[in-house]
Amino acid sequence: MHFVDKERLLDKINTFKHFGDDGMGGITRYALSKEDLLAREEFKRRMEEAGCIVYSDDLANMYALLKGSDAKAKKIVMASHCDSVKNGGNYDGILGVLSAMEVIETISSQKIPHKHDIVAMIWTNEEGSLYPPAIMCSSIVCGPYLPKEIAKNYDENKLLNSKSVIDKTTTFKEALDKFPYKGKKENRINPKDYEAMFELHIEQGPILETNRKEVGVVPCVLGMCNFSIETKGVANHAGTTPMKYRKDALFAMAKVLIKIHEELDKIPDLVYTTGEINVHPCVHTVIPDHCLMSLDARHVSDEVIEKVKHIISSLPNEVEGCTLKTHLEWDRKTTYFNKTLVSYVEESVKELGYSYQYINSGAGHDAQFAAYMLPTTMIFVPSKDGRSHCDEEYSSPTHCYQACNVLLNAVLKCDERGVK
Ligand SMILES: [Zn+2]
Repeated sequence: MHFVDKERLLDKINTFKHFGDDGMGGITRYALSKEDLLAREEFKRRMEEAGCIVYSDDLANMYALLKGSDAKAKKIVMASHCDSVKNGGNYDGILGVLSAMEVIETISSQKIPHKHDIVAMIWTNEEGSLYPPAIMCSSIVCGPYLPKEIAKNYDENKLLNSKSVIDKTTTFKEALDKFPYKGKKENRINPKDYEAMFELHIEQGPILETNRKEVGVVPCVLGMCNFSIETKGVANHAGTTPMKYRKDALFAMAKVLIKIHEELDKIPDLVYTTGEINVHPCVHTVIPDHCLMSLDARHVSDEVIEKVKHIISSLPNEVEGCTLKTHLEWDRKTTYFNKTLVSYVEESVKELGYSYQYINSGAGHDAQFAAYMLPTTMIFVPSKDGRSHCDEEYSSPTHCYQACNVLLNAVLKCDERGVK
């Protein structure tokens, strides 16, 4: 068994939280911003000090490579992201990068023998907070390996032309061209040169904490479906139209929402969200004539996702005098991680004597796209009060240290035995 340096790991957590410090305990560190650049510079400095070669690809994904003893062995990579949402926390994504750095520093300083090159990697623009969508650069790099029905939602040119949500004009590509860490396309991570990918990440939910588990072993990322639901009524004057003559699209949508809850709440372990709603014309003296609502549903079983799709598609065409239409925007099957890598994680946790459980990832991560390209898995760290994407996001130093030890030992098992 091997152990990382807890103080050195905590020093990194304390250093990186200054790059985009929002003054309220969290950070705002958009992809390709000056704060992102500060984090990249510190990554480069520390990794070169540990003896790594640092390089980047054409999407500014960044790699720090520690040479292994066997020049023919494929690289083993540990990757996550260092960008954040607005007023996000100090652990989402960045903890995976800092842990990858810590593993490299440990292997280097303790001179732990390893055959494979070991790489710490930063994925660019996972959050998609400034340039949507989320998980952008891993979707581009892994694009050729994704199933067609997923790949069609991630057209590279469209993504590169994504506009800043702040100034509405700068494109992701323009920002990338100006970013000092834009490198060469041939440096992109690929299955020919890479053996396996590990991503350590905070859980971003309450399950590990509630169950008093120290580490999460992650076998999969949940399958999901996304619908848009639309009601159409008739706009009219708020004062002159008696209630019985109204076709109120918002009222109809409210009925639809209740109906959705009646049906979907019966399905065990399903999580679903109707997070976005648009009402037209959204004027207090006008009866709404148009309403559009999103539905995002997630479950480990593909059959359950099919059942949800059937329930939503079978909603009536008319509600409260308004027409109702549902449209499946996209869906995705559960992504299972590589069983051998999952077993290395589990074996490492057991040897280290930490409490653990299997936990499915409800959130999307770079690892979910990487899994289509190479053997991949994740390790989860408990999140205090299950909070994430907020200033209060927190994982205890002990939990961070434990998960980092699991990452180190799992990577070394992969180095020794490879992936079957
Ligand atoms: Zn993340």
